[in-house]
Amino acid sequence: MPPRPLIAGNWKMNGSSDSTKALLVALLGEIATMRPGCDVVVCPPAPLIPLACQLVRNSPIRVGGQDCHAKPKGAHTGDVSATLLAELGCAVVIVGHSERRADHGETDAQVQAKAAAALSAGLTPIICIGETEADRDAGRTETVVARQLTGSLPPGADMVNAVIAYEPVWAIGTGKTPTFADIERVHTLIRDTFARLKGSATDLRILYGGSVKGSNAADILAVPGVDGALVGGASLEAAEFWKIVSAAPARRAVTS
Ligand code: PEP
Repeated sequence: MPPRPLIAGNWKMNGSSDSTKALLVALLGEIATMRPGCDVVVCPPAPLIPLACQLVRNSPIRVGGQDCHAKPKGAHTGDVSATLLAELGCAVVIVGHSERRADHGETDAQVQAKAAAALSAGLTPIICIGETEADRDAGRTETVVARQLTGSLPPGADMVNAVIAYEPVWAIGTGKTPTFADIERVHTLIRDTFARLKGSATDLRILYGGSVKGSNAADILAVPGVDGALVGGASLEAAEFWKIVSAAPARRAVTS
């Protein structure tokens, strides 16, 4: 049986104290009426993490960071360590998001070091990979995705302590999505590559990300090999995010 799905909301550089309270109170209200059949994570901007952790305490919602530094501390102005994220109450951290790869020139080696730092701090890294439109048009999707996965996975990662997010860059925030057949093909490639590198990938959660919304979530989450979603824009509105959470098929928990 496939692993329990994970729906993670990436708020990016959006939100305020007021919107965090409103969104999380609304989500907690939904959860009070219907226990989700999947794991639910919200990833606010770093300064909102303590407030988010306080609001979701004793609920099934977990909080994640959007990035972390590879070092536990030091002279790295503006960065946040994985150890601090863990101390604040985060359970996961996104690493290697395509916006960080593009805006900050992050390489696979840097993403690998960040994912290693996350694991050392006891966090689950959500390691993002995905091809650009130019890669896709040139028929390089498989090569790029396999290369990013191989280069971004740290030695200590395994199918239970790490999560992979397949996010075609051209699908992020554009309203465009790959065909279901393309999503299935790339997720199969990721699972096969992971299994070759790590011995097994049966329990690995591979999320799809890129323009997931309430209206397409059920179909995307039903694609074989899709174990959840990383959601950007649609995670900023409680009702829309809840539609995605509700669309996730209920499955067994991943045991570590
Ligand atoms: C993302 O940023 O990870 C993302 C998938 O964004 P969106 O859902 O807005 O396409």
